[in-house]
Amino acid sequence: MGNSNSKDESSLEDFGIEYASAIESTSLVNIKDKYGLFIDGNFVDSSSGKSFKTLNPSTEKPLSVVTEASSDDVDRAVRSASVSYEKYWKKMPGADRARYLFRIARHLQERAREFAVLETLDGGKPIKESRDVDLPLAAAHFFYHAGWADKLEYAFPQRKLEPHGVIGQIIPWNFPLLMAAWKLAPALACGNTVVLKPAETTPLTALLLAEVIRDVDLPPGVVNIVTGAGETGSAIVEHPEVNKLAFTGSTEVGKLIQRSAVKRNLPLTLELGGKAPHIIFEDAALDQAVEGVINGIFFNQGHVCCAGSRLLVQESIADYFIDRLQKRIELLRVGNPLDKNTDIGAINSLAQLERIDQLVKAGIDEGAEVFKPSCSLPENGYWYPPTVLTGVQQSHRVAREEIFGPVLVVQTFRTAEEALEKANNTPYGLSAGIWTEKGSLIHWMAERLRAGVIWANTFNKFDPTSPFGGYKESGFGREGGMQGLAAYLKNSGGNS
Ligand code: NDP
Repeated sequence: MGNSNSKDESSLEDFGIEYASAIESTSLVNIKDKYGLFIDGNFVDSSSGKSFKTLNPSTEKPLSVVTEASSDDVDRAVRSASVSYEKYWKKMPGADRARYLFRIARHLQERAREFAVLETLDGGKPIKESRDVDLPLAAAHFFYHAGWADKLEYAFPQRKLEPHGVIGQIIPWNFPLLMAAWKLAPALACGNTVVLKPAETTPLTALLLAEVIRDVDLPPGVVNIVTGAGETGSAIVEHPEVNKLAFTGSTEVGKLIQRSAVKRNLPLTLELGGKAPHIIFEDAALDQAVEGVINGIFFNQGHVCCAGSRLLVQESIADYFIDRLQKRIELLRVGNPLDKNTDIGAINSLAQLERIDQLVKAGIDEGAEVFKPSCSLPENGYWYPPTVLTGVQQSHRVAREEIFGPVLVVQTFRTAEEALEKANNTPYGLSAGIWTEKGSLIHWMAERLRAGVIWANTFNKFDPTSPFGGYKESGFGREGGMQGLAAYLKNSGGNS
């Protein structure tokens, strides 16, 4: 990959050092020609015989063929989960459920490299992220929830709680394995059984997880994984024997699911979109803040619901800060996601690439100035360079809509009150970041920001003990921590 620098920054090339790629081997990964649906502990065909391809977005080459679950298949999966709930899982002591979760966690650790490479191949994210973030966190979620499985009565003292039964879970394409872990681990720890649907463009690590689930001898039907597109998801949502739904994805689909759940008074958690403000005050440690902003928006190509996609920078330092930011962006390596030096990988799908492009064009049409670094992009595959839009007004689409790509939108402010006003001026409320040396200002802002997760002098820190979730159109309910656990339990004889 080409990688040039702005005039006053030194590059490796200036010192006569050539950049050498470090490509992760794919030999550990054995991708099958075709994958079945994971129902009742076995990989099975669809009743309709339909299937679809999953691609490597960095090459556009097909990786495998995946079975498309029809509503009959979803029905089979729900019935299996229902039987398994009554027959095994509901009766099993928490300490025994914990053993299974610990086993899954350990298998994930043992096969971490294989999972990481597969995640990168199917989704396009840099190997250093799937290796250092997705995999350790996915294992950590199973470990954490395994610890709770036999202690639920201490987690919620004075309350008589029980599992919901069969849970329908629908996850997106940006963190395929991690989202599966976020959803499965607490559901299983609390004694529920599950039907889970991964996203159409990234089903492979969920299917590898299905193999792990089979290898640890989880009773058949406790976890069922059905692949397919929106219709398959919709069949889960509408199924009368599903007792609770958990969804992560777009606000648009989240609203459809909410409508359906409300009609049946079904418990629901929704983790939806975001347009997080990343607020930089003039007294902040600016070099660290630049790194925080880079991580906040370019991590996972910006395909992150809590991405710090709106930079709010104090006017007195705006020119300096944007200049530092642009110089740092020139140094980012965009390209082969399997290269351990890559900072920004491939955009997950052509549809997402077109959406990013369309929104950036809309921003330029509305008067924004665009900065893109001078890096070249690979010929094949779906790529978008790290991009900064300045001169953005609050009314512009790029300031209001989730772009879900490597695009940072910049606005300025003069006072903390103005920063707060602009930060909260969004239908979303998932996350926010604050950079300042003043502890009192951090507290003042954090109390007033309408966001479920607030980071101070850092960004994108995740931990299974810490609840994650949003306000307003970013959804409701929490995942992680005791709050996340509580969503998978209900009062005995009633709803949660
Ligand atoms: P979706 O909300 O469509 O996808 C999320 C999941 O829901 C996928 O598994 C999807 O299946 C499934 N799904 C789609 N339609 C239905 C339905 N009617 N009933 C039940 N399940 C359904 O997101 P997209 O992939 O279309 O992305 C569009 C935009 O959403 C992005 O540009 C981004 O802005 C935002 N987004 C936000 C995410 C977040 O984490 N907050 C994650 C993903 C997207 P399938 O993929 O197979 O169609």
